Amino acid sequence: MSQKLGEKFFPLGVSGLGGGEARRLAELDQAYCWHPFTPMQEWCQPENEPLILHSASGAVVRDVYGREYLDGNSSIWTNLHGHGRREIVEAVCEQARRMAHVSFLGAGHDKASLLAEKLTGLLPGRPLPRVFFSDDGSTSIEVALKMAAQFWQQNGKPERTLFAVFDGAYHGDTAGASSLGGVALFHARFAAWHFPVLRVRSVEELEASPEWQEGKVAAVVIEPLIQGVNRMALWPQGMLRELRRVCDEADVFLILDEVLTGFGRTGEMFACQHEGVVPDILCLAKGLTGGVTPLAATLTTERIFEGFWGAWHEGRTLFYGHSFTAHAIGCAAALANLAIFEKENTLETVREKAALLARLLADLKSGCPWVGAVRQLGLLAGIDLAHPSGAPLPPLERAGFRVCASARRHGLLTRNISDTIVLIPPYCTTREQLEAMVGAIRRAVGEVLGGREI
Ligand SMILES: *Cc1c(COP(=O)(O)O)cnc(C)c1O
Repeated sequence: MSQKLGEKFFPLGVSGLGGGEARRLAELDQAYCWHPFTPMQEWCQPENEPLILHSASGAVVRDVYGREYLDGNSSIWTNLHGHGRREIVEAVCEQARRMAHVSFLGAGHDKASLLAEKLTGLLPGRPLPRVFFSDDGSTSIEVALKMAAQFWQQNGKPERTLFAVFDGAYHGDTAGASSLGGVALFHARFAAWHFPVLRVRSVEELEASPEWQEGKVAAVVIEPLIQGVNRMALWPQGMLRELRRVCDEADVFLILDEVLTGFGRTGEMFACQHEGVVPDILCLAKGLTGGVTPLAATLTTERIFEGFWGAWHEGRTLFYGHSFTAHAIGCAAALANLAIFEKENTLETVREKAALLARLLADLKSGCPWVGAVRQLGLLAGIDLAHPSGAPLPPLERAGFRVCASARRHGLLTRNISDTIVLIPPYCTTREQLEAMVGAIRRAVGEVLGGREI
């Protein structure tokens, strides 16, 4: 599975640490670590061989034993240009040497100034000229919620306290972001601690709801065009534009969660650009640093920013922040990440590779009776496993989980969401690597379901 490393990427590290050391690292993990979204009893069984990674370059990652895999998951949807991308790594090292971190409470720094200017300039005409930095996708949402809630409190509409959200939404796991969530598996257990939201399935349902008509809604929050965690469900074309129109009519804020879709994933810099929509608040995280460090940004309009204007004793300040807000190393990485877009016309690359991926997935679907619907937008894809009749498979069979485990043995790392296999390759993935990724899924599906009775 060699790839041309070229000059762009730092090469992979040592080809394995030796069996003894590799095993010891796996044992230490099983003894002391607690993994997110992971049934730990299963993980800690001696017969489970946990994946312990050690180096990465381009679309390839290597584990402590020296085994190589293609990263079909872009490190949980964060990586853009590939691992070990030289300019980003060098920017991180330079920044770490000069000044790793400084509190953004009461001070700015060079990289944040430059990055804020860059980010606000990514939408033509700079309609969102203010950036509030935070740490990850969830906190970028928390910021947006507090901005919208406080804005109405202190600008004449205190009755606007409700957030409208969509069925199947995923906006993160902190308590506020989780309150918005509409995926039962992740959110239902904590429902007793969530704040109330107006949950709807469509724009029509939103407009028809009494809360909307009574003017209680502060903002609508949505993942534009595609709900990643909801098995890559696509919104109907034009839906976002319609939602923007409806929000404008009622003067309700539109908050777009582009944590996943931002930075070229869908073939445009931001997904909202497919429909010519500009939000009032834009939440960005995952790809912001090219997947190298955590960093998030919440962009907003001059109007919302001015809603917080006032003498200090008027109490119009946004009291929200984190220790590592606007982390200097993250800002340096983000600047290097964005510079690559300009230098290499990355959006064009994404579009070309998305077209290739579409062909490969169409072949997969037509050649494989256990592959049902395939949904794709840019370099985001969800591949449903289903009975050849189209019926869903019994959840207890864990087909999605088993297909991903099998794909790992065929050199592909990715994750399932129930019986949907997610494929989100880094932008640097070559044609051969993309073919190998889809090939690994084809073999894995054959292995897990091929012998199953129809
Ligand atoms: C991942 C994700 C989040 C949460 O981001 P974290 O960095 O995991 O907190 C929010 N919204 C969407 C659409 C996401 O994909």
